[in-house]
Amino acid sequence: MDAQKSPLVLIRERIAAAARAAGRDPACVKLVAVSKQQPAGAVEAVWAEGQRVFGENRVQEAMARWSDRRSAQNFGQTGADFELRLIGPLQTNKAREAVAFFDAIDSVDREKLAVILAEEVQKHGHSPEFLIQVNTGEEPQKAGVLPADADSFIRSCRGTYGLTVAGLMCIPPAGEEPAMHFALLAKIAARNGLTELSMGMSGDFEAAIRFGATMVRVGSAVFGER
Ligand SMILES: *Cc1c(COP(=O)(O)O)cnc(C)c1O
Repeated sequence: MDAQKSPLVLIRERIAAAARAAGRDPACVKLVAVSKQQPAGAVEAVWAEGQRVFGENRVQEAMARWSDRRSAQNFGQTGADFELRLIGPLQTNKAREAVAFFDAIDSVDREKLAVILAEEVQKHGHSPEFLIQVNTGEEPQKAGVLPADADSFIRSCRGTYGLTVAGLMCIPPAGEEPAMHFALLAKIAARNGLTELSMGMSGDFEAAIRFGATMVRVGSAVFGER
């Protein structure tokens, strides 16, 4: 039987099982299918299976792949449930396009970017959902605000810049036990009254769900290796 199930169906089943094992409602964990660098055919197959929430890590690549569906959506041919999330680092010179194109920007991580996003939201008259990325492993090469600076950055994003911050995102260091990073992210979110937690990828989404992930970002396990 299992041999006939697609990778997407198997991942959805594992998400639901992990949620139930943690005493959580499976409907409270959203699958973000990370389509970056995947061939069009693989993305089409997953779309045909009904997946509607996708993550991309580059603005330009996302626009090339999704522009047609975005405009079809504007004209009512594609459902309102189609959701596109930017999960990669955002350069300030792409902020305008990102605000106009994405439903959510999950990688807000510095004052300069927050200022420009706030300006673009004003001009655009419409706001995506924002998540703040936290560099839980304090890795110098990785994007994200440091854990020690997270509370004040969250406060200024909401207060000073008026961004609609829904939650937090993290990418634990490769090769490290992710559990303590997930726990830290959940703790920072809780003390700031934030409900969305984007954490967990192909290799560790079940652990992330145990620690309260409300979104898991799964690429290769859904589409195949990049
Ligand atoms: C690529 C990527 C993912 C997906 O990684 P997989 O290991 O393929 O599941 C998740 N989150 C971010 C931020 C990524 O860049």
